[in-house]
Amino acid sequence: MTTPRFKRILLKLSGEVLMGEGGLAISPEITARVAQEIADVRAQGYELCVVVGGGNIFRGLSAAAKGIERATADYMGMLATVMNALAVQNALEQIGVDTRVQSAIPMASVCEPFIRRRAERHLEKGRVVIFAAGVGSPFFTTDSGAALRAAEMKCDALFKGTSVDGVYDADPKKVPTATRYETVTYSKVLSDDLKVMDASAIALCRDNNIPIVVFNIREHGNFGAVLSGQGVSTIVQ
Ligand code: UDP
Repeated sequence: MTTPRFKRILLKLSGEVLMGEGGLAISPEITARVAQEIADVRAQGYELCVVVGGGNIFRGLSAAAKGIERATADYMGMLATVMNALAVQNALEQIGVDTRVQSAIPMASVCEPFIRRRAERHLEKGRVVIFAAGVGSPFFTTDSGAALRAAEMKCDALFKGTSVDGVYDADPKKVPTATRYETVTYSKVLSDDLKVMDASAIALCRDNNIPIVVFNIREHGNFGAVLSGQGVSTIVQ
């Protein structure tokens, strides 16, 4: 039997992953499918943290460009991530996966506040812990939140679930000859400005030796396959 490469992982889900046809912000069907992928991986014995974005509902930077003060717009964006976290929690619990949501912005009636040691305990008990509200401060993103929580929770890797199957040397939608990297270094991602995660998140992962695995979570079975070293992905390391 081979020893799995990773035991505890953090899954970063962009808000857009939950979107449905016609601009529907949270598609119940797609959220249920994503939840099933998470449940399948959980059932294989992995410890799972999840960080959800909010871009399907609200992005601070876009709203600031239209006149809302940046910090206020960012707080609105963080609230959007809490909505997504609750949607993912709901979908997971409907298929029998025990979960807790912890928010970086305390909101006692809705979910737990982020408490690292409590999150640790949840993981030990086999619960999936969903972290909401990014780092809890404006001028950051949930990519940075994901890198921070991955470091704090001592995750072996950060899995970035998207709707593309990895990192390309050019935009595959515009450049037909674009090729996907199997592996790529943190420094190349930063120097070539490859669209993986924002620069502060990449730097935080680099400084803490956390590999970033970019993969398509919308493809059935791919999350589990990538974890077991098959599946299609790009590893930033
Ligand atoms: N945000 C923030 N601080 C954080 C995390 C998020 O201010 O620590 C705000 C920011 O406005 C961002 C929005 O929340 O645009 C939604 O998060 P993000 O854009 O990272 O979501 P994703 O692109 O992953 O869906």
